[in-house]
Amino acid sequence: MKAITVEPRKPGTARFEEIPEPDVHEGSVLVEAVAVGVCGTDVEIVEGKYGWAPPGATRLVLGHESLGRVVDPGPTGGLKRGDLVVGIVRRPDPVPCPNCAVGEWDMCRNGQYTERGIKQIHGFMSERWRIEPEYAIRVDPGLGILGVLLEPTTVIAKALEQVAIIGRRSFWEPRTVLVTGAGPIGLLAALGAKSHGLDVHVLDRMESGPKPDLVRALGATYHSGSVREVGFEPDAIVECTGVGQVIADSIQAIGSSGIICLTGVGHGGVVTAAACADIAASTVLKNNVIVGSVNANKRHWYKAGNLLARADRNWLSRLITRRERPENFERALERKPDDIKVVIQFSEV
Ligand SMILES: [Zn+2]
Repeated sequence: MKAITVEPRKPGTARFEEIPEPDVHEGSVLVEAVAVGVCGTDVEIVEGKYGWAPPGATRLVLGHESLGRVVDPGPTGGLKRGDLVVGIVRRPDPVPCPNCAVGEWDMCRNGQYTERGIKQIHGFMSERWRIEPEYAIRVDPGLGILGVLLEPTTVIAKALEQVAIIGRRSFWEPRTVLVTGAGPIGLLAALGAKSHGLDVHVLDRMESGPKPDLVRALGATYHSGSVREVGFEPDAIVECTGVGQVIADSIQAIGSSGIICLTGVGHGGVVTAAACADIAASTVLKNNVIVGSVNANKRHWYKAGNLLARADRNWLSRLITRRERPENFERALERKPDDIKVVIQFSEV
């Protein structure tokens, strides 16, 4: 079968090539790939900045935002041939740490977790893949190709849950949420926050195009200036850019007792000792919490599945702005100005 593979930490090594059929040790469920979403992590792996091949291998099958059709459900589990499934990305560490031991692998304490398509386990950008039945999430068949949005939605299901849990430390009646960044994660955050009945605002650099239209179609408000210009003090901010200035502005703009949830992973930016103390002072005087959130456990996959199943299908379909064939994977990795989610399509739904 064919797969998109890369030699991690070596730029320019990605290719669409013939590899052996998936090993039965990877799981008893055999799945035919339908589509795989492309995200910034995939781009970083292809650029040689990130990623680990499986032990004993030099190359890694890329891809962690999966959607596939069950070909052989195997001897266990409740799956049937033809079911649409998405594979959970992370596996608990082998020690395991206390969090992995209770199924909270998203909160792994020792960093020895593994991740499909990223860290030591092959990903989903192959014509067929295998998965353990307990890590295969069945998606609403009516979603069709939109099921490929499940993995990014799990990131948001966890982030919003974190904000809600932290909010219980005091009387907490949030009304306004600011989402910074209108990429797939930001737009799905807006969808999730809207489903909680909140007044949702989304900020991004783009002044026109699909992003403002998608935000307004949700009944949310779009802003294209800086966070300092939004004109209100948000009760919560879901930060999806990873940009230093946006984060710094968010800390200034957040309302008293407000919570900032960081989901973006950026690089660089200089914080002087004085600026650091200013951030701390602002956080102290407003009782703020700044929390980071990454990955998701099974509970968040379940919640994300429900959010997608209830969402407007037409709106969700507008998030997938480009579909490429696997042989054109290099085109899928390019970022164009109006791209939101680009998917590599292996077969028809
Ligand atoms: Zn762990």
